[in-house]
Amino acid sequence: MEPGCYEVAPGVHRVPLQMPADGLGAVNVYALETPDGLALVDGGWRVDTTFGEMERALRRIGHGTEQIHDIYVTHVHRDHYTFAVELRRRHGSRVHLGVAEADGLAAVGALGSNVPTNSLHELRRAGAPVLADTVEALTAAEPFYPSDWEKPDHWLAAGPLRIGQHAVDVVHTPGHTKGHMVFHDTQRGLLFSGDHVLPSITPSIGFELGEWDLPLGRYLDSLSGLLDRPDSQLLPAHGDPTPSVHVRVEELLVHHDRRFAAMRDALATLGPVTASAVAEAIPWTRRERPFATLDPFNRMIATCETLAHLDTLVDRGQITVRSRGDRDVFAVA
Ligand SMILES: [Zn+2]
Repeated sequence: MEPGCYEVAPGVHRVPLQMPADGLGAVNVYALETPDGLALVDGGWRVDTTFGEMERALRRIGHGTEQIHDIYVTHVHRDHYTFAVELRRRHGSRVHLGVAEADGLAAVGALGSNVPTNSLHELRRAGAPVLADTVEALTAAEPFYPSDWEKPDHWLAAGPLRIGQHAVDVVHTPGHTKGHMVFHDTQRGLLFSGDHVLPSITPSIGFELGEWDLPLGRYLDSLSGLLDRPDSQLLPAHGDPTPSVHVRVEELLVHHDRRFAAMRDALATLGPVTASAVAEAIPWTRRERPFATLDPFNRMIATCETLAHLDTLVDRGQITVRSRGDRDVFAVA
């Protein structure tokens, strides 16, 4: 995606901001024209170039960053939250974040590093202690900026919200993170979906600090929940907008059914094993890549994703689990 500012509906502009060294390429921030200036949905990832990039993009529609009065952030991940805090620092913009992200945000501040401690704990439960050590060393070496993680001005709850002249529903969609929110303008038929619904990839599940509480089960419930709402244009945080939220939600539900089946089949073939062994036995990404070809960070995401599916199958009574020391061993029932 070329940098710039793309109108997706009257007065609503998609601003793709480059992301450093990440397979996703860009994060979409949406700039909404209001009588007072601009509101943003999602803030972007604060790196040294982000501010200039945002200024250049907004200038194309005759605006400046100083006109941004409110920023509604879908979830606490750094590619969505940290530049919102930077805009507040520069211009006093108000930052809004889902109330169920409060614990995760406090935990990042208390930890003081990018080490994903809870995911590492789950990796060890998944039988991948060596991978956990590798990711720990890599992330501990990354720079960490405490000022990226200052609190929002306002904690968002689910319910009605006014952005400029438009009524928007704030919808709690836990799964990708506990406090993920999407913003639904039903009148104009626009759903700002954050990472909850993405057009060409599936979001990671439960990659956050805090307790692991069946994140995939919550994610699937949050997905189905969108089918009970009017269909709308999908305005995702990564990738291109598409005409129908419902079409993509149906595809994602089918995708996860296939993944459940593939993991159950792998378990049936392998006998009782850890989530790590199941992850190594199935293909990954749209390109069906072998697990071993993924980088350590994506091996962690893949392993946690497998664990999330297996935990859900246990919850549904379709497979069993036994603890062996600090790892869980799964088997077909
Ligand atoms: Zn995210």
